[in-house]
Amino acid sequence: MPELPEVETTRRKIEPLLRGRVIERIEHDAPHKYRNTEAAHGKRIKALTRRGKYMLLHLAAADAADDVPHELELIVHLGMTGGFRLEQGKHTRVTLHTEGGVLHFDDSRRFGKWAVVAPGEYAGMPTLAAMGPEPLDDAFTETEFVKAAAHCGAVKVWLLSQKPVSGVGNIYADESLWMAKIHPAQTRLKPAEAKRLYQAIREVMRNAVDAGGSSLGNGVGNYRQHDGLSGLFQHQHHAYGRDGQPCERCGTDIRKIVLGQRGTHFCPKCQKLRQ
Ligand SMILES: [Zn+2]
Repeated sequence: MPELPEVETTRRKIEPLLRGRVIERIEHDAPHKYRNTEAAHGKRIKALTRRGKYMLLHLAAADAADDVPHELELIVHLGMTGGFRLEQGKHTRVTLHTEGGVLHFDDSRRFGKWAVVAPGEYAGMPTLAAMGPEPLDDAFTETEFVKAAAHCGAVKVWLLSQKPVSGVGNIYADESLWMAKIHPAQTRLKPAEAKRLYQAIREVMRNAVDAGGSSLGNGVGNYRQHDGLSGLFQHQHHAYGRDGQPCERCGTDIRKIVLGQRGTHFCPKCQKLRQ
């Protein structure tokens, strides 16, 4: 499943193709999945931003001045397998026509969603509405994180809720906890642990965004950058997907458990569960 770095990589790649363009039409045959898209017809894409794993296209009237605030947002959630392509494929679900060209949204598993809403009206998307700060923004502060982590339940489940920080999914939660030497089921983090985890999340997310996100070839997910190139981050995983392989710090075999219904990878020696 695409996580924050993959979505950010996609955003950066399609931004030069879309920013400033007027949407001529959005073509699809599933109005319950791609909601209210006709409201975007004739609107100009002023900016492309991201919140967690959601991409937000800011739309304004085609002739609106630059300093007029956007009047609509086109929200794109990539789901498990969504991505943009320059050419139409067998799994193309949506085609976005602009005056400058055409982009296709491919999504073999069909969990991707689009919606056009008024700015900030995310009631139909509860995860987006309740989302915590971006991991690489100044709004994500160590002080707030340490305070909240003192009362967290199983720390990995808490991270996956997107409330303490947005965009940290299964892969990056495992990687951050390995780096911070914290057991995924640990509750009530001590300040020193929470500080290590805060720094680890920032480092893991920064590295992953720089590397262009992960790409899994084993059927778990099949994210590819929209030009067909795979992300490179999978070569940097220390815990995720490495069960049975030696921990790079201590040589103990990485173990896999299920926590909050998600496969969870950790080093039983470096990441001890404390009482
Ligand atoms: Zn270890």
